[in-house]
Amino acid sequence: MVGLRTVALSFAVLAALPAAAQERTDPISQFLGLATGSITAPASQGVPAQPQTAGHPLMTPEAIANAAAEFGICLEKLWPEAARRGVSRATYETYALSQTPDMKIMELLDAQPEFTKSFWDYLDLLVTDARITRGREILAEHRAVFDAVEKAYGVDRYVIAAIWGIESNFGIAGGERPVIRSTATLACIGRRQNYFKDEFLSALEILHRGDVRPEQLKGSWAGAFGPTQFMPTAFKRYAVDFDGDGRRDVVASVPDLVASTANNLKKAGWVSGQTWGYEVVVPGSFNFLLADRSRQMTIHEWEQLGIRRAGDKPFPRSGDTAYLLLPAGARGPAFLMLNNFRVVMKYNPSEAYAMAIGHLADRMRGGTPFLQAWPRDERVLSRAERHELQQLLSARGYDVGQSDGQLGGKTRAAIRSFQASIGAPPDGFASEGVLMRLRAR
Ligand code: CA
Repeated sequence: MVGLRTVALSFAVLAALPAAAQERTDPISQFLGLATGSITAPASQGVPAQPQTAGHPLMTPEAIANAAAEFGICLEKLWPEAARRGVSRATYETYALSQTPDMKIMELLDAQPEFTKSFWDYLDLLVTDARITRGREILAEHRAVFDAVEKAYGVDRYVIAAIWGIESNFGIAGGERPVIRSTATLACIGRRQNYFKDEFLSALEILHRGDVRPEQLKGSWAGAFGPTQFMPTAFKRYAVDFDGDGRRDVVASVPDLVASTANNLKKAGWVSGQTWGYEVVVPGSFNFLLADRSRQMTIHEWEQLGIRRAGDKPFPRSGDTAYLLLPAGARGPAFLMLNNFRVVMKYNPSEAYAMAIGHLADRMRGGTPFLQAWPRDERVLSRAERHELQQLLSARGYDVGQSDGQLGGKTRAAIRSFQASIGAPPDGFASEGVLMRLRAR
């Protein structure tokens, strides 16, 4: 989680779902990313997204086979850097040089899911009654820990619990792949070697210091581990020893994992006492061009534009700044997103993920389901259809950026312009209706 991740749009889709939702079968590719109009496709836990380039020179079968054949040589070349970080030769031999590459990861690295999930399906999947109930039990069981962590870091306990619940279903394990083997594989083979070298070496540091027990350093194929899915480099930045036993054990110590996750959010800019966002009602004659991540205004300014809180409750802090998000376009519910929503997105840069965290937190706290209905009759476009949509827009002179089947900011802007040209609300939502209008003209 966190850090170097930049929001790009493709690699992303692979690990759109956190570990808990990926189930044990691991082909994350069977599980699907997101592609409704205004979704930012997420990177996997902690992995900076990079545009996938078909036929990357390091991803050809020959390049992968050659790199796999030289796996031992590659690890030996990394030894001096491990030594500089204080890792002992004995640790390096025991945990690194004994490894064989996990070649399945290369398939996962470049898997391209064909179908995608809608924003509302994603929320349904992650915010379940079972998870709400279990979350309340966890909060009660560890009340003293959450009390102390909330006091020390000022981060909402329900959000921490929601991250725990969504990343690992409140489990202890967040995946079954040994982190050293996964990160070593990615550090020596394939197109993300530079990024994963640091993850691999950081994972070795964790073992060398004895923070996490070797048999418990397991996680996702990308190396995120523990109940709240720390990447090794994020562990180095944020993990804390909250139970005072001298080890920062974000896997097996509840105080350490809860406090480390809180510390991560605090360092990422969490504003104490502020929520993540509000469900809001948009007036009928609204300028949908204002629904844009780059348009930050105060709650008071949004109110002056006719935005009301759903359920007619007052906004508690009218000076907070927020942006307006319409995850399902003009036909679905609207939300004002505050600073803390962006903080959760630093944990996993997906609006759908961040909303699932925020909503699950609210539900565990006793909040209601969203009051406005999702447009469940909307069908999410397939990858081929998204590609076609981009090509049709491009043929009409709209700039869609790279026409790759991923709907990024430029494509959304192009959809808005096209919608405006036909007198439709310019919400930028890539609906089947938009595609049909483009085909017809
Ligand atoms: Ca500890």
